Amino acid sequence: MKIGILALQGAVREHRNALHKLGVETVDVLNPEDLEGIDGLVLPGGESTTMGKLLVRYKLLEPIAELGRKGLPIFGTCTGLILLSKNINGSDQYRIGLMDTFVERNAYGRQLASFEADIPIPALGDEPFHTVFIRAPYIDKVEGTAKALLTYEGKILLAEQDNLLVSAFHPELTDDTRIHAYFLNKIKK
Ligand code: GLN
Repeated sequence: MKIGILALQGAVREHRNALHKLGVETVDVLNPEDLEGIDGLVLPGGESTTMGKLLVRYKLLEPIAELGRKGLPIFGTCTGLILLSKNINGSDQYRIGLMDTFVERNAYGRQLASFEADIPIPALGDEPFHTVFIRAPYIDKVEGTAKALLTYEGKILLAEQDNLLVSAFHPELTDDTRIHAYFLNKIKK
């Protein structure tokens, strides 16, 4: 199994480490050719307006959207969550736009720009997950086949829709690989 990691910006190395821990091969994606033969794709955090522009400049936006429409499993963290959403409240920025989600960017304001919390996630079992938020977005609404996997204080922080998985927080910044493993399960299915 080979997983691509979009490597234009952001926490690439941390996702690579998490996936290697789970015993899968990874490839950094910088060009459309790097998408050939991958079984899944990770979109890391960063800054979504910048990453959107880079996706266009590197001619990756449309090929990734096409692969996602065809069923390639894609996991987006933070900026990745924003880019995968069809709706970004109040913004017309570039996006891959595959999920029936409504996203609020930088939703936690300045004083909560970065915070951590241990939150139980039913889909992952009893043990709470240590969530790390950095200028995090949240999802305020899901539609269609999109489904919330974690709602905390009224905000959707982990969601999936068919082959797509998104988190508002950064599981790659912890030692807990359960969310990456959950993503790999989408590939096995
Ligand atoms: N606030 C960033 C954005 O709008 C996301 C932050 C992150 O990825 N940690 O893209």
